[in-house]
Amino acid sequence: MTVHIHPSIDSGVKQGTGNFAGGTLVCKCADKPVKVAIKGDVAHNHACGCTKCWKPEGATFSVVAVVPRDNVKVIENGDKLQIVDSAAAIQRYACKACGTHMYGRIENTGHPFYGLDFIHPELFQEGGWAAPGFAAFVSSVLESGVQPGEMDGIRARLKELGLEPYDCLSPPLMDAISSHVAKSKAKAA
Ligand SMILES: [Zn+2]
Ligand SMILES: [Zn+2]
Repeated sequence: MTVHIHPSIDSGVKQGTGNFAGGTLVCKCADKPVKVAIKGDVAHNHACGCTKCWKPEGATFSVVAVVPRDNVKVIENGDKLQIVDSAAAIQRYACKACGTHMYGRIENTGHPFYGLDFIHPELFQEGGWAAPGFAAFVSSVLESGVQPGEMDGIRARLKELGLEPYDCLSPPLMDAISSHVAKSKAKAA
């Protein structure tokens, strides 16, 4: 049985050039696509199994990364964007016509990841961005219809692709969150 993770990595993870200067994210609309300019390379690129991240047709995981919010600029057809869920911590701006999420933004200045926007690098019209390096929220794919019996195969395939599977975020990102919480507590004391 073939295990599908995401179309952009199913045939192997393509490594980045290490000096990606940025590019343009384009939605799936044939007519008047939304275009978002990104300055510089992405960071913390990973496969994500949560139910909130946007995934292309047939994908079990999303591929998602972060960039500083100041490096994100909507350049064409921004009137087609709407926030998927304004109550969510990450406000995901999706194209009303094709449903593609173009970027996710955190407005809560107290959030550990405030200042970073979430984007899907597969939407770049250019190649060479930093490759995904791990898989997050792997167990969460069960919430979107994956059967428990498929999990061993999925985790094995992720490892084979070099994407260490975690059921939350990677250790460096979990450490970043906890450090932020510790600092906030110290400030409040
Ligand atoms: Zn669109
Ligand atoms: Zn996710």
